[in-house]
Amino acid sequence: MRVLVVEDDALLGDALQAGLKQSGYAVDWMKDGVSADQALGTESYAAVVLDLGLPRLSGLDVLRRLRSRNSSLPVLILTARDTVNDRIKGLDAGADDYLLKPFDMGELAARLRALIRRASGKTDLLLQASGVKLDPAAHRVHYLDASVDLSPKEFAVLHALMLNAGKVMSRAQLEEQLYAWGEEVESNAVEVHIHHLRRKLFPELIETIRGVGYLISADKAS
Ligand code: CA
Repeated sequence: MRVLVVEDDALLGDALQAGLKQSGYAVDWMKDGVSADQALGTESYAAVVLDLGLPRLSGLDVLRRLRSRNSSLPVLILTARDTVNDRIKGLDAGADDYLLKPFDMGELAARLRALIRRASGKTDLLLQASGVKLDPAAHRVHYLDASVDLSPKEFAVLHALMLNAGKVMSRAQLEEQLYAWGEEVESNAVEVHIHHLRRKLFPELIETIRGVGYLISADKAS
């Protein structure tokens, strides 16, 4: 899962980036509203953590522009404790949730998981497909009730495919979930992760749709 953090405070942005990386996300960090607006217009993310007080373009304006493009991307806004009005404006402008600063990193990660889960239309905490169970919060995968060891990137590929069960995901879409800006994408990385997942779980779980991408079919998932 790739998320965008928009925060002009260097210390807080750094902490957000580190904390979310530790939770297994690929993180892009933008420090002003204009850069955030551009990134949201061109890149694909699973969610956004958006500070409201930003240079060049306010967080509210970034949010309004995003929604005016008909994007339903989950947005969590960060606001100062004394600004009830900002929170109301933020929610009215299309934010899905908010946190008051200072906040707890664990709570932020849990709220993001909830937003991403809701946006996928899944209500269960566990994702399941043909005996494979994936727990996003605990970052664990079980197959036929035995724990399976996956690398963080294998986990991310499987998570994206299970969240999007029934939809074909292209190699480019999967790569976008794996890498933050500036990180070098190893060629064939997605193929290698898929190969490992089929070996560690079972070969038929992930189908190859020739020339299009990869799929976990909807009838396997629940
Ligand atoms: Ca700020």
